[in-house]
Amino acid sequence: MMQVNERFRRTSNNTELQQLLHTDGYQSLFDYSSEAILVIDLEGRILHMNRACQTIFLNTREYDLNTSIEHIVEFDDESSFFNTLSSTETAQFTGTNSSLNRKLEINSIPIIKDNQVAGRFVQLKDRTDEIEEFEQLKAQKGFWESYLDHSGDAIGLFDMNGNIVKLNPATEDIFLYTREELLGNGVITIPDESYRKEVDFLQRKVKSGKTVVAYETVRKRKDGKLINVEITHSPIYDQNGKMIAMANILRDITERKKANMKLRESEAKYRLIAENTADMIRVLDVEGKVTFASPSHELVSGRQENHYEGIDGFHFVHPDDLHSIKTQYQKMLEAREPIHFEYKEIHMDGEWIELEAQCTPVINQGEINSVVMVIRDLTERKQTEELLRNSDKLAVIGQMAASIAHEIRNPLTSLKGFLQFFHSNSKDVEKDHYELMLSELERINLIVNEFLMIAKPQTAQYKETPMDTLFSHLLSLIDSQAIMENIEITTDFEEGLPAVLGDENQLKQAFLNFIKNALEATASGGTVDLTLKKEGTHICIRIKDNGCGIPKENLENLGKPFFSTKETGTGLGLMISQKIISNHKGTVDITSEDSKGTTVTIKLPKVSKGINKK
Ligand code: ADP
Ligand code: MG
Repeated sequence: MMQVNERFRRTSNNTELQQLLHTDGYQSLFDYSSEAILVIDLEGRILHMNRACQTIFLNTREYDLNTSIEHIVEFDDESSFFNTLSSTETAQFTGTNSSLNRKLEINSIPIIKDNQVAGRFVQLKDRTDEIEEFEQLKAQKGFWESYLDHSGDAIGLFDMNGNIVKLNPATEDIFLYTREELLGNGVITIPDESYRKEVDFLQRKVKSGKTVVAYETVRKRKDGKLINVEITHSPIYDQNGKMIAMANILRDITERKKANMKLRESEAKYRLIAENTADMIRVLDVEGKVTFASPSHELVSGRQENHYEGIDGFHFVHPDDLHSIKTQYQKMLEAREPIHFEYKEIHMDGEWIELEAQCTPVINQGEINSVVMVIRDLTERKQTEELLRNSDKLAVIGQMAASIAHEIRNPLTSLKGFLQFFHSNSKDVEKDHYELMLSELERINLIVNEFLMIAKPQTAQYKETPMDTLFSHLLSLIDSQAIMENIEITTDFEEGLPAVLGDENQLKQAFLNFIKNALEATASGGTVDLTLKKEGTHICIRIKDNGCGIPKENLENLGKPFFSTKETGTGLGLMISQKIISNHKGTVDITSEDSKGTTVTIKLPKVSKGINKK
């Protein structure tokens, strides 16, 4: 400010310059120009101001001549303005008019008279809008440049010939090429020349004004490694709407692809499991509706999996189980912990199937979005459990039978001893009674002995076993039952049969089962025929009854554990017997006609002569 005041005082004689302006008739051009123009002397004092200048800067207020130009303009570089006042050159400056808050471009033009600079025209142009726009552009440019510099995507600019003219730093990280290696060329990061067509295709599209968005393809890094990329390619226009370049944003999606692949692989794996497991797998939504049912549903429930989709997950549950399952399910949703329960569902054919289910809530972003149910068919397990229980039972019964037989045999021996004693001392009339008592006692002894034999622990001892003697023993065991039920047992044993190599006790057990079944099937007055004969290399044993027979539909169930049509049957006899025979390399064949009778034919290999001679 001090400077200004000082300059104020340094007045000089300017009349000469003023005269020059007036007399030369430039006055009106100067005055009526739409641009703001001042005339200043070599000290920077205002000598004249045209109308435009007055209107813009002084609001038509009267102004003092001889005022320094600094009253109107604050120069950005004040000293160079004043230093060039006497220069013969035109000079340009910038500055501000702070009272109006305008940014100015200032042109300083020398007024030359007699080859001397007499003063200056100062032209003031309002550049506020342009400058602000420029500042904005500069800011924007900074923004975009920072984006380009820091983006993880490779961003490039292509000219209209397809040459790369600008690349950001990330390009180097992605492709391992330096920017110098890439600039000025076309695309050199393609895996092979066949990709050239693709590049051309993409550029043609952009040149036609279209934007290619997220195009997936493959590119090659400098080290030869192929990477999966996603390309967005778009045209760039100038202010006049003319296309001047093409922008290319390339994203390395190799990792994403890998992750996707992994996801797909694991999905495929789980799908494979779901589709091939014997367990039923059901996915329920939060409302309990089935959104997925595995194909194994058909196997377990008889219904195809599409039968389940969209229906309630517990649609087929037994009414007795439904309430408790729903309560547990609700608890599971609240506690977000898996639950486990056994229950029954109805099979397509109307039977109840025993099942075991594990329900696991699937939590996604803190919310349960589905429930996975893995349901296992328990029928088989229950059967094995029962089989185990039953074989336990059998073992216990066997042990009891053995100890009972033992307990009976001892008193029998003393009874027999006394009877023999009484017998030898008896009178003739009594002798018959004693003999009868003795033979009955002998029978009891035999039965008890057989019991002991069967009940003994079964370590197979293979030896030559003649079938006829074995059957005679068996007959003594079952005779009484046959007589009680009024069934006649006939025997037809071929003479001189070769023996069978086998475990006597096991074979006895097997035949006893077959014969007992025959007796149980036969009504009072019926017959059971036992036949033993040689048939080639085998001994053929036939047990034929004229009992109730076996209906066709039951034939296939014979020998399955626990298949029994009897009220007190175990359904184990046939299974055990067949197992024993097959262990002896024999076969069992059952033919039957409903209500006519059944024939069981067992064939066992006879002992070969070589062994026989030993
Ligand atoms: P269980 O005698 O305890 O029923 P089995 O395994 O010995 O068990 O026999 C299974 C079923 O096979 C019997 O319940 C019966 O229905 C049928 N069966 C076996 N043998 C005969 C037969 N000789 N005549 C008619 N039915 C038979
Ligand atoms: Mg039986």
